[in-house]
Amino acid sequence: MTAILTLDGLTKRYGQVTAVDNVSLSIDANEFFSLIGPSGCGKTTTLRSVAGLESAQQGAIQMAGRTVFDAATRRDLPPNKRPIGMVFQSYAVWPHMNIFENIGYPLKVRGLPRDAIKARVQRVLDMLGMGDLGARMPSQLSGGQQQRVALGRALAIEPSLLLLDEPLSNLDAKLRESMRAELKQVQRDTGLPILYVTHDQDEALAMSDRIGVMSAGVLHQIGTPTEVYTRPATRFVLDFIGTVSYLPCEVLRREGDTVAIRWGDAGEASATLEVNLDTPERGPASLAVRPEHVQLTASQEAAQPGLARGTIKIRAYLGDAWEYHVRVGDCLVRVRTDSAQALEEGSEVAVGVRQGFVVSAADGERDSVL
Ligand code: ATP
Repeated sequence: MTAILTLDGLTKRYGQVTAVDNVSLSIDANEFFSLIGPSGCGKTTTLRSVAGLESAQQGAIQMAGRTVFDAATRRDLPPNKRPIGMVFQSYAVWPHMNIFENIGYPLKVRGLPRDAIKARVQRVLDMLGMGDLGARMPSQLSGGQQQRVALGRALAIEPSLLLLDEPLSNLDAKLRESMRAELKQVQRDTGLPILYVTHDQDEALAMSDRIGVMSAGVLHQIGTPTEVYTRPATRFVLDFIGTVSYLPCEVLRREGDTVAIRWGDAGEASATLEVNLDTPERGPASLAVRPEHVQLTASQEAAQPGLARGTIKIRAYLGDAWEYHVRVGDCLVRVRTDSAQALEEGSEVAVGVRQGFVVSAADGERDSVL
C-alpha cells in the first residue's frame, strides 16, 4: 500500500501544554482513518497541523509523496498548497451563494474555466444525491443537506486527502446515522482517503478502516475497529472504546495467554490475558468485562465454580437487547443480553464472565463501586 499521508514524530506545544506529543502515523490510499479521543486530547490540533493551519515544533508531514511540513528544515506549505479538502463541524456554507456557487467557488478561485466548473459541480451534486438542488439557497436546505454541500465543496477540488473534523456532530441522531453510511459510500465511490476526527466511538467504529486512539496528546494505539475493541493496547484504550465494568479479583497464576483468577464469591475461573495490559503475576487485581461477555442465569441455585451471586438493580429495554446493572458484591456490572432474556429488577442471579481483561487493581474499580 502507498501511504498518502505520513506523520513522523509530530509534536505541537502551546506554552506548557503539549497538545500533540510525538505522533507518528500513516494513512493509505483508499483508507478511512479516524482519530478518536476525549475532548482536549489533541486530535483537532493534529488535523489542523496536517491542513497547514498550525505549525508543529517537531516532526514532519508527507502528503502524496511530497514533504509539506518539516520542522527541521522549516518547510511549511500553506493550506492552499496542500492537496486536501476540509470539512468542519460548523457547516461553513456561504449563505449568500446558492448551492452551485458554494461548491464551485474554490474552483473559480483556482481559475478553472466556467464549463469545467459547471461539469465538475454537477458531478459532485449528483454523487451526493442533490443533482437538482443547485439553484437553492443554503437557507432552503436541511442541516444534513448543508453539511453535504460543505462536503461537496471539499470534494470538488479533487483533493488527494479529505480532512473531516466532527462533521456530523451538529446533526440529530437519526440523520447522523444515515450520514455515516453516506460518507462511507462517498469514500468507497471516490476512493479518497479520509482522516476523520471524532470523540464519538460508535461513529469511529462504524466507519473506519483503522482508528488511532489518543489521550493527552499521545497516540495510544492504531488498529482496526476490531483490534482496538478486542485487543486494547493500553488501559486507556480499554476504558475509552466500548463499555467496561470492573470486578475485584485475585490472580492465582498465569498460564501463557490466560490467567487463573478468583472473583466475587465464585470459585476458580480463567480469563483471557491481554499481554499488553498491566496484568499482575499474582494477587489482587481487577477483572474488566464488556457487557456482552457477562452471562446471567436466573437462579442462584445454578451457581457453580466460576459464577458469582448478583442482584439485578436496574434494567433497561433497548428493543433488540436488555441492559442490566447487576450488583455483585460492592460493584455494579453492566450486562447486555438478547431481548429474549427478561429478568426482573430485584431478582437474584448467577453471574458468569465469558471473557475479560485482568488488569492491576489501581483505579480500576472507580466507576463501578456503589
Ligand atoms: P475537542 O474534541 O474538544 O476539539 P481535541 O482533542 O480536538 O478536543 P485539541 O483542540 O487538539 O483537542 O486541543 C489539545 C490541547 O491543546 C488542549 O489542551 C487545548 O486546550 C490546547 N490548545 C488547542 N489549541 C490551542 C491554542 N490555540 N492555544 C492554546 N492551547 C491550545
